Amino acid sequence: MATVQGALHTFLHLRMVDGLDEATVFQITASSSLLALSLSVLMKRRVHEFFLYSHRAATVVLIIGLWEHVRTMATLSRVLLIGAFGTFLLSTIFQNARQIYKNCAWGTRGVRLAHISQIRTYDDSPIVELKLSRPWKIQPGDYIYLCVLTPKCYSFLQRHPFIITWWEDVHGTDKTQIIYVMLDPQRGWTKSVTKHASLFENKMAWLDGPFGQSNCLEQHGTVVLFASGNGIFAQLPLMKGLVVGSRSAAVKTRRIKLIWQTDKYHAQLQEWIQSVLDDERLDKELLDISIHKPANSLESGAIDHLRTSKIHSMGRRVRIIDDVPDVAEYIQRELKEPRESVAVTVSGHQQLRHEVRRQVLLTKCYNVRFYELEYQRGYVDGHKGGMAA
Ligand SMILES: Cc1cc2nc3c(=O)[nH]c(=O)nc-3n(C[C@H](O)[C@H](O)[C@H](O)COP(=O)(O)OP(=O)(O)OC[C@H]3O[C@@H](n4cnc5c(N)ncnc54)[C@H](O)[C@@H]3O)c2cc1C
Repeated sequence: MATVQGALHTFLHLRMVDGLDEATVFQITASSSLLALSLSVLMKRRVHEFFLYSHRAATVVLIIGLWEHVRTMATLSRVLLIGAFGTFLLSTIFQNARQIYKNCAWGTRGVRLAHISQIRTYDDSPIVELKLSRPWKIQPGDYIYLCVLTPKCYSFLQRHPFIITWWEDVHGTDKTQIIYVMLDPQRGWTKSVTKHASLFENKMAWLDGPFGQSNCLEQHGTVVLFASGNGIFAQLPLMKGLVVGSRSAAVKTRRIKLIWQTDKYHAQLQEWIQSVLDDERLDKELLDISIHKPANSLESGAIDHLRTSKIHSMGRRVRIIDDVPDVAEYIQRELKEPRESVAVTVSGHQQLRHEVRRQVLLTKCYNVRFYELEYQRGYVDGHKGGMAA
């Protein structure tokens, strides 16, 4: 809206004036940088670092252009601009002060920062264990921007967002000092960490956050979590948060169904999921997990026709299914027993996202809410037919 208003203002002004005076040149500069700011979002996904620095440069040009444009004008214009800039400056100072407080703790040996205490790699996915300098309160679904303070791979110049997939509370409090982020290696920095994990261990880190959208899942009687591949990074903390909340009756949720399509289920994820399942205080009906491993049906090859079932139970609450999930069936099943309202969340590959969104729309029920989580990656895979269990 600001870009459209700025462009319109410049266009109308240019039609009224004959030549280009200094104020008009700066007006054009400010409008162009505003336009560049809006358009730069288009390249965010492709060239992230370039987006980051060009965004900052355009902001500086915008501020200078605007100031030079209104400098010779009526006092009110200048006061308004100074007011807007002052508010921006104050909120930036406040945010930075908050971040400094969250990152730095003062001990006997001076300032202490967060650091990477360990990196373990499972199935090519590194799990980074971060020890915070002071305890933080984490909301399930939160993410941080991680900047590792080392010259290796120009890490100190980069900050990447990662979901806090797991955390350990400081005994007897609701705060945490150890958080875990899981990396899905891409082509850049995450690939370097995967290849040279040992170079990053014990290095200090600067964390921004925690940030996160509040989905208010705890307000829903039933929560259905769909994930594929590494989408579990984002769904696991939600599952953990709801289970912990239900123990203290702090949430309305009475049923959680996790449907996860994957071909990897490594030891660390198994351990974390098991630790949630092992809780003896857990209501029998509360949690139910279906893990879909379509690759299993391919692996079995020639003997496939001999298999009597594609569904295998692992204990009372976990089923392994050798097929892709039947999204429609899963949603319909949960709707048969509506507990006031149903929340459906998804984090995974594109086809799964489309399918879940489509099926939620098809229910035409006012009490079903759909949430696409902020982290959406994962391998691309076919999604037709499938099973539910
Ligand atoms: C809210 C949020 C939570 C995320 N959580 C996780 C997580 O838990 N685990 C995980 O593995 N990944 C997560 N990601 C994605 C992760 O941030 C990127 O995969 C990572 O930054 C890629 O770094 P790279 O240099 O290896 O990427 P490249 O190979 O250079 O690029 C791969 C992709 O990542 C994007 N990207 C690159 N740098 C950044 C950056 N600084 N910020 C945002 N996107 C970037 C690029 O635009 C491109 O689309 C999350 C992203 C968001 C927005």
